[in-house]
This record gives sequence, C-alpha cells and structure tokens, in this order.
Amino acid sequence: MEKDMKKVINRVLEKYPAKTFKNRKAHIVVKTEEEPNPVIQANVRTIPGIITSRGCCYAGCKGVVMGPIKDMLHITHGPIGCAYYTWGTRRNKAKLEKGGQNFIEYTFSTDMQDRDIVFGGTKKLALAIKEAVEIFHPKAIGIYATCPVGLIGDDINAVAAEATALYGIDVMAFNCEGYKGVSQSAGHHIANNVVFSDIIGKGTNKEHKKYAVNILGEYNIGGDAWEMDRILTKIGYNVVATLSGDANLDSIQNAHTADVNVVQCHRSINYIAEMMETKYGIPWIKGNFIGVTSTIETLRDLAKCFDDPYIYERTETVIAEELSEIEGEVAYYKEKLEGKKAMLYVGGSRADHYQRLLADFGIETIVAGFEFAHRDDYEGREVIPSIKLDADSKNIPQLTVQKDEEKYRVTMTPERYEALKSEGVPLAYYGGMVKTLNENAIMVDDLNHHEIDELIKSLNPDMFLSGIKEKYSVQKMGVLSKQLHSYDYTGPYAGFRGALIFARGLEAGIYTPAWKYVTPPWKTEPMLEGKVVGGEE
Ligand code: SF4
Repeated sequence: MEKDMKKVINRVLEKYPAKTFKNRKAHIVVKTEEEPNPVIQANVRTIPGIITSRGCCYAGCKGVVMGPIKDMLHITHGPIGCAYYTWGTRRNKAKLEKGGQNFIEYTFSTDMQDRDIVFGGTKKLALAIKEAVEIFHPKAIGIYATCPVGLIGDDINAVAAEATALYGIDVMAFNCEGYKGVSQSAGHHIANNVVFSDIIGKGTNKEHKKYAVNILGEYNIGGDAWEMDRILTKIGYNVVATLSGDANLDSIQNAHTADVNVVQCHRSINYIAEMMETKYGIPWIKGNFIGVTSTIETLRDLAKCFDDPYIYERTETVIAEELSEIEGEVAYYKEKLEGKKAMLYVGGSRADHYQRLLADFGIETIVAGFEFAHRDDYEGREVIPSIKLDADSKNIPQLTVQKDEEKYRVTMTPERYEALKSEGVPLAYYGGMVKTLNENAIMVDDLNHHEIDELIKSLNPDMFLSGIKEKYSVQKMGVLSKQLHSYDYTGPYAGFRGALIFARGLEAGIYTPAWKYVTPPWKTEPMLEGKVVGGEE
C-alpha cells in the first residue's frame, strides 16, 4: 500500500519547536495529482544548529567552478583550513596536455596568521603572488577571499590589479567570503561573473570550427567530461570548451566561438549560459548526460539545434553502436535492481539527473532533495519571475550584459528557435526536478541529519544516495549509501558506459554479504543449545 507522504512529513516535523516547524514545513513538499508542481522554499538561510550538509560561498566559487581550471593557479587568501580542505577532495580530474600546465595536484594558500588579521594581509598576498609567478610561471592566477578577508577589509581587487600590471598575466580576484549568500550557490554566481567578464571572449582563435559546442557546468568528476567528449567527438562535434572540468584557460577564452551551449549543471552555470546568449548570440539547451535515456534525449535535442543531415545520421548511428555495446549488461543490472527504492540528496543538480539514471534500471525515487538549489531547479525556470531575492542574496552582483557587436553571431534563426521550443527542445529552459519526479514522492530542500534519520525510519529505502557526511551514519542504519559527489572514488558515471559503472557499483553495494552480518546472530537465534543436567536437588 502506498504511504501517506504528508503524514510521514508531519511525523518528521513534529519534533521541532514551533518556529523551526514553520520554517522547515515550507522546505518539504509532496508531488501529488492535485499538486503536480508544489511551491517549495529554497535558497534561504539555514537554521543554526540543525546539522545541515551545506557548504559556503568560497567552496562554490573556488572549490566547484574555478578550481578545475588546470593551468590557472588558485591562491586561497585566508587561514590554512579553507585551502587544506579543498585540496584534492573534489574529484575534478585533469590531464596534463602537451606543452601545458596542470596545478590540480596542489593547493595554494597565504596561510594568514594573527598578525595578518591585525595589520592586514595584502602584503602577504602580494608576496604569495610574486612567489607563485617566479616558481610556477602560471598563465593566470585567481585569488579567493575567505571569511576573515572581507571582515578586515583586505582589498584583494587592488592587489590583483597591481599584480596584473606587474607580471603581465591575468590576476583575478574573487570576493567569495564564506559568509556570503546562504550556501555554495552564491560562490557559483560570483565565479560566473568573473569568468564571463574576464575570461570568455578574450581568445584570439579566428577559426570557427564546424559543429562547435561548449559543455557548461560539467566538472569532470571521475572522468565524466571525458566520457561526454568521447561521445560528442564520435558523432562529429567539436567541443570548444568545458566549464570547467579538465579545462585550460585558452579553451574558455575561446568559448564564444561555439554554436550551442549544452548546460549540464543548471544551478552552477545558468548565469554564464544566459549572459553568453545575450552577448554572443549562442543559444543554450539544458542537457543531461547522466542516464542512458537522458543521454539519448540530449544527443537528439542537440542534433536538432544543428539541423544538419550529417549530424542527424551520425547521432543515430552512434546511439545504436553505444546501445549495442551495453544492452546485455543493462538488462542484467535491471533485473537485479528493478523495484528497489531510492532516496537522493545531492547539491544542486544531481538529485534530478540521477533519478533519471535510476529509472533506467527500474529503481523508484521516493525522496529527492538539493542542498543549495533555487526554486527554478525544483519547479522549473517558469517560476523565476516570482522568485523574490532576500537580503542574503542581494549582495551578489548581477552583471548588466550588452550585445558584442563584433563577436555576436546568429547561429539559429529566430523562426527555427521558436519552432524547436514548441517541439519541446529545452532551449533556454530547464523544467526542474519536479517534472520527472514520481507522484507521491517527497521533494525536500536543505535536508538535515534529523530529517534523514526520520525519513529513513519511516520509508525504509533500499539506498540513500548522497555525500560523505551522510554516508556512514546512513550505513550504520543498515541502508546502502553511495556517494553521488565523489562517486565513491570510481567513475565516470556519465554517458552510456558511465551508466554501467554506476549500476555495477550499486548492485555490488546492494548484494554485498556484509548486510547479513549487521545484526549479530545472538539477537535472532540462541548461540548454544543444550540442557541443564542435575539442576534439581
Ligand atoms: S566558511 Fe569561511 S572559513 Fe569556512 S571554508 Fe568557507 S571561507 Fe573558509
């Protein structure tokens, strides 16, 4: 019998004091027949002490968007912790290219001390830049502000401008102090602004490649971007830039030469996608390379954007070839996994992408949540006009963008654009997580430790797919938890081959014999058998 999810939610919420109850109630909704697109509260301040999984603005800026750019040297301006904990912890893989540079293995910090807080840290920062230039000769440097930097008033923008003039390379400042906004999301926006105004469009490539695309919001975790690249190249596309998995500066500087942008992670990159459309005329579609069905859908949508017989033909040939390689194993894993139930709780896009991959193997998603997504990621971009910015988000700069008269190109006629939109091609559109969510599933924002425990107890899922902070407490409850941020140190999970790697790990986790030993045998059966002899006198 189907659970009454509204009752489940009330049970989860009833332990809260009145004010917390009211706040959290707005973040947990159920998709029903009567309410197929419920309004959810998102991108607002976390309740202090509630054990959130969220991170900070610096993590979103340096950790997510900028850190993967491999030939740029990223200096964290702050005490050592922020740099240390972002050292190699996100698996954004990068290969050294011939004649190129790759700083991914390093973390760089100004390691602020008490005296820097008292007297200011700009001198130390300038010295760190000098040292970095002399030792590593990077193409560009990023300076990332951490919490104390904004509070003591270090002017990192002035230091960056001076260093740019002094060394003749781009030194960019990112005002991404950890307390800005309410989560990683503010950091994405700050990074987008700098990448758009200081990097994209600076490239000197005059050549316009045929079938040129960018992949935006793809960070090459476990090699995902390489798998997307493999498929796209096999079809005949030229991937100009990926933002920012395994990216080098040169490719991003030339990103304006692409014909279409494919947005993988809407949350972290939609600002750049929008701004590139205005400035350079490049249309964008929401794609998704996670899941077999989604990958096929994305490839077909992209082909329609080019409307070229060669691309149509290659797309279908490659889809057929790739499917024939995997279909046997897909059927095997489907048989093993069909009918299982999953809870998903991931950053700002994966909870949506992975419910689609799970569906490929017959797994039903019963709860799905984001840490830091906005309402448009849940409910679809159609709700953007009704989203009110609150005080926590108002201090994130919004750039005003103009058409670039020299570099603007019309890659798709307005008639074709409208025709494709009415056909359902997601041009400048993302429908959000709710559209594919099953009826009677719970959609939740900024889920916390108490809510995870209670939902697992009430719904008894077969798996909880989330992050490192949740993994072990969930597994201690006897429920499989796979990490969808780090992929449990495997991957790729994207594309056709990635779907199989994901399913293989899931099947191994579900069927591991270890689950049988969670309850010790003496709790269920007697360890010794025998009878007492001579007990009576
Ligand atoms: S919250 Fe502040 S101190 Fe903590 S990691 Fe972010 S920038 Fe660093």
